[in-house]
Amino acid sequence: MCGIVGTIGKTDTLPFLLEGLGRLEYRGYDSAGVAVLSGNEIQTRKAVGGVAQLVAEVEQNPLRGNPGISHTRWATHGGVTTENAHPHLDASGKLALVHNGVVENHKHLRDELIGRGHVFLSQTDTEVLAHLIGEAFDQNSDRNRSALLHAMQEALRHVRGTYAIAVIHADLGKFLAAARSGSPLVLGIGKEAQFIASDAAALDGWVQDIIYLKDQDIAALDGESFHLATVNGGTATAPKLRKIQVEARATGKGIFPHHMLKEIHEQPDTLREAMKGRLIPEESTARFTGLHRTNEQLRDLKRIILTGCGTTFHAALAGEYMIESLSRIPVECDYASEFRYRNAPLDPETAVFAMSQSGETADTLAALRESKRKGALTLGICNNVFSTISRESDGGIGLRAGVEIGVAATKTFTSELVILAMLGLILGRIRDLSQADAAEIIESLERLPDLVARTLERDALIADIAAKYAKTRNFLFMGRQANFPIALEGALKMKEITYIASSGHPSAELKHGIIALINEETPTIVLAPQDDVFEKNVSNIEEIKARRGPVIAIGTEGDNTLASLCDEAILLPAAPGFLSPFLNSIALQLLAYHTAVALGCNVDKPRNLAKSVTVE
Ligand code: GLU
Repeated sequence: MCGIVGTIGKTDTLPFLLEGLGRLEYRGYDSAGVAVLSGNEIQTRKAVGGVAQLVAEVEQNPLRGNPGISHTRWATHGGVTTENAHPHLDASGKLALVHNGVVENHKHLRDELIGRGHVFLSQTDTEVLAHLIGEAFDQNSDRNRSALLHAMQEALRHVRGTYAIAVIHADLGKFLAAARSGSPLVLGIGKEAQFIASDAAALDGWVQDIIYLKDQDIAALDGESFHLATVNGGTATAPKLRKIQVEARATGKGIFPHHMLKEIHEQPDTLREAMKGRLIPEESTARFTGLHRTNEQLRDLKRIILTGCGTTFHAALAGEYMIESLSRIPVECDYASEFRYRNAPLDPETAVFAMSQSGETADTLAALRESKRKGALTLGICNNVFSTISRESDGGIGLRAGVEIGVAATKTFTSELVILAMLGLILGRIRDLSQADAAEIIESLERLPDLVARTLERDALIADIAAKYAKTRNFLFMGRQANFPIALEGALKMKEITYIASSGHPSAELKHGIIALINEETPTIVLAPQDDVFEKNVSNIEEIKARRGPVIAIGTEGDNTLASLCDEAILLPAAPGFLSPFLNSIALQLLAYHTAVALGCNVDKPRNLAKSVTVE
């Protein structure tokens, strides 16, 4: 979740360019860079790692200039290197550009540019944009500000994918241009200076009035006035000036009363972000560059261990179903706290995935180190890619969920699920998974953010049900197959933030003991989507009802069994079977959240819990 920052004004731009990047750090990134117009040349500084590394670089090799642009990069194309960090220059070295997004047809465009004599210095898709715009600009004899805007329009017409870009040019003095399609960009309009950023959080304190650019907008800034046009040459709709205050802090709560609710509602975006640039429909597979493994190396794997704690362990359990069914590789899930002392047999043909939101979980880190010692391949799955687990593993995958402030994990859970689904896809495609089956999975994954958005529309219904059952002393959660771990997670969420005793079970375990708990005062939440075990779940519901236990069923739109059989039915959008765990987990997050609110609990900071568990 990279960040763009830019400014043009009367004073030196560096303080804002660096501070703004710092404010966007929560979005996650792996390298950073800055470019300014200094005299009549472009100067850049770049660093791999955090904004702190870039600040150190600028301290060692100072630069001053105006206008300026800066960037935190979350690599999608090309490794995490200084060369690949933004800003990128065009062939003349006079145009500097930063980009957030993915140029899907970059290979084709790059080959064409190479054919016309262009030389590339990075592996990024972004550098193609700099060269294309620079070329179109150089071909225009006017070489003025409107020539640059035309060059952007001309170049962007050939681009497929998503972008927010900012451009400065050595020949144009105080002039900064920006455009967006699919990736966010906001303008800050000040008296002395103007600004751009991926998120208003970067602008807070520097400027009062902001404008959210719309898709296809191009903005031209000269430090005193601004002008909007569109990528396809039409007139931009009149900009709406807003005051920055409330919406500024992306790490704030925005319009939501709690961080947790905000984070639950961010999931269409965080899932999109987790998949961005990682699905490769042309080859019906996915790609994680951070794994640093070739297909041959991945094919040699005979066994996978997923290890983590708490919510992350439940994601691992759901991942086991997905990875095994797609790749046929045996998967084991272990609580990191148990695994580290279990003396598990390990070898180089085993990959151990150490999964942790913070990347600092002490037990998971110990499990990682133990696996390394015994010669297994160690891979991290973390939200914080600068964390110890990320640094110490042989390779890794970032969740890209952005900062999660609510102590009870929500959006990072579904990001972990989608990462594991993509991992299954990759491992399956180098073994037995057919192109046609994989293509279907990719299509489903692409629909996932919209299905999640539609699931979130059940918020009010779930709030009503939560209020009705909030005085309950004991909740049971049941599910089958990959929805069994979702039942575990639903129970954990309920425990964490409402302190109501809750437990999750495989539905079929009811008869093997759990049924003893059923009575009129113990509601059971049954995950019963329309799938191949639906009838079995219905039988379990009958068994509970026969003992007068209240049932809250979570099913699929169009279902007409559950509403008549159960006390409550929450029907979610119809989705391919492997996506139902995603939608069910969101419904259960909302159920726990609204129950906690009804009870007046401290939702974001539940008692006794910490976000990053750095002790054993
Ligand atoms: N696709 C670009 C790259 O890999 C930009 C990624 C980003 O949004 O940070 O360099």
